Amino acid sequence: MNILLLYPKMTDTFWSMNHLLKVVGKKGSYPPLGLLTVASLLPKDWNKKLIDLNTEKLNDEEIHWADYVFISAMNVQSVSAREVIKRCKSCGVNIVCGGTLFTHEYESFPQVDHFVLNEAEITLPLFLKDLEKNNLKRIYKTEMFANVAESPLPQWDLINIKNYEYSIVQYSRGCPYLCDFCDVTALFGRIPRVKSPAQIINELNEILKAGHSDMILFADDNLIGNKNVLKSELLPALIEWRSQNEFAPGFATQVTINLADDDELMRLMLEAGFRHIFIGIETPEEESLLASRKKQNAKRKLLQNIKHLQTSGFIVTGGFIVGFDTDTPSIFDNQIKFISESNIVIATINLLKAPPGTELHERMKKENRLIDKFDFDENMSNIRFKIDREIINEGYKSVLNNVYSPEKVYKRAINFLKYYNGAKVANPIKRKIKFSDYITLLRIIIYVGILGNCRIHFWKLIIWTLKKYPAKLDYAFLFVLLMFQFNKMFERYLSLNHKIPEN
Ligand code: SF4
Repeated sequence: MNILLLYPKMTDTFWSMNHLLKVVGKKGSYPPLGLLTVASLLPKDWNKKLIDLNTEKLNDEEIHWADYVFISAMNVQSVSAREVIKRCKSCGVNIVCGGTLFTHEYESFPQVDHFVLNEAEITLPLFLKDLEKNNLKRIYKTEMFANVAESPLPQWDLINIKNYEYSIVQYSRGCPYLCDFCDVTALFGRIPRVKSPAQIINELNEILKAGHSDMILFADDNLIGNKNVLKSELLPALIEWRSQNEFAPGFATQVTINLADDDELMRLMLEAGFRHIFIGIETPEEESLLASRKKQNAKRKLLQNIKHLQTSGFIVTGGFIVGFDTDTPSIFDNQIKFISESNIVIATINLLKAPPGTELHERMKKENRLIDKFDFDENMSNIRFKIDREIINEGYKSVLNNVYSPEKVYKRAINFLKYYNGAKVANPIKRKIKFSDYITLLRIIIYVGILGNCRIHFWKLIIWTLKKYPAKLDYAFLFVLLMFQFNKMFERYLSLNHKIPEN
């Protein structure tokens, strides 16, 4: 049996790192972990080929070669998923789709032959059993959650890991919280299910063997969803693994703000190698936090918590949202002020969206406020806001303009670098300098420092860091790259003249 596994292209949203990747000479952000795991769940003796459309082109001969094409996608890949489904259909090949896009919206893909929905560890074996009996159904879905401790090792030999900026593992699925705009709990449940430390160590060793030595992303919904098991099982194992691997890569992941309440957990995570953490901060407005059920962020001193995480050794990336029903026109200035005072250099600012499968989506449907035809790139939200359309249009633009201006990125970076000292953390992350690093440095200097629109702030930040904190130059280069990415995407945002939906 010949199987072609396809990963559709991500839409260039405001925060895709496409410009940054071009500068550093990488083709994609991170490998398609879900499809690599699906490949391992398929019979060993089948012929498999994986094409990630973010990094490679697809030929019609490859489609004709396949008996089945498996496509996995999230909603940010929907435009490319529709195109590739159409193309495969015109080649007459059988199409099997899975992943969160299809789990929520399979009804809107009538051309697809079969759906393997929810978690593939449960539904794919059912599909394979029926395939053997030549009695395939159209839809395979389940309400059960998979035991991830039995998930197989992803089949890394199907991709060239060096094409990617990050590599990727997943330790847990699920999150105990119930934020009304998030589909994680509906998809993966409230009780985080975890892999064994041995599984993760095995995956990490495979990644190193495949030749990836830079940052590894733990693609968990919320790594600290089950703190006890994390503290007693995974983190001690990672600390031990790091002690045996002098040049082990650093880790990035997603957590909730309550990490700042637990000094022991912070210490263990830092020793284990976690440095970059994404936190959904969403808004400084207490009323909006409570109304959207983001209770873990409410009734706390968010700025103090962020500073505590940063001074302890974490680089915090913050997720922010405008457009909650409780927002007033002051939200835009308040977000600008909060982000500036937090010294969060990397901030993602979204208009509120209601993904299918969320409580918010249900409420918007009942209130007749959903926009049917939604595509990430075109209108940036699928709901009609309560706040006046013109006010949100201008306000959102002003937040982006302020937060992503090279001047403001530069200021936040300087303030952050003054008190951040990752080198002091026990178990510092050491990097072996390779020849390719010099090439990357040269590319950054040419594309950002000489040709980039933000070159003045590039040199200001690099020279300031060299003079004051030469040991932190790595971070300064990261921040100038992000400054470049933000700048390019803001230009694109303005050129697209995005339309906020009518109220
Ligand atoms: S904490 Fe994060 S992952 Fe968990 S429900 Fe809220 S937004 Fe989703």
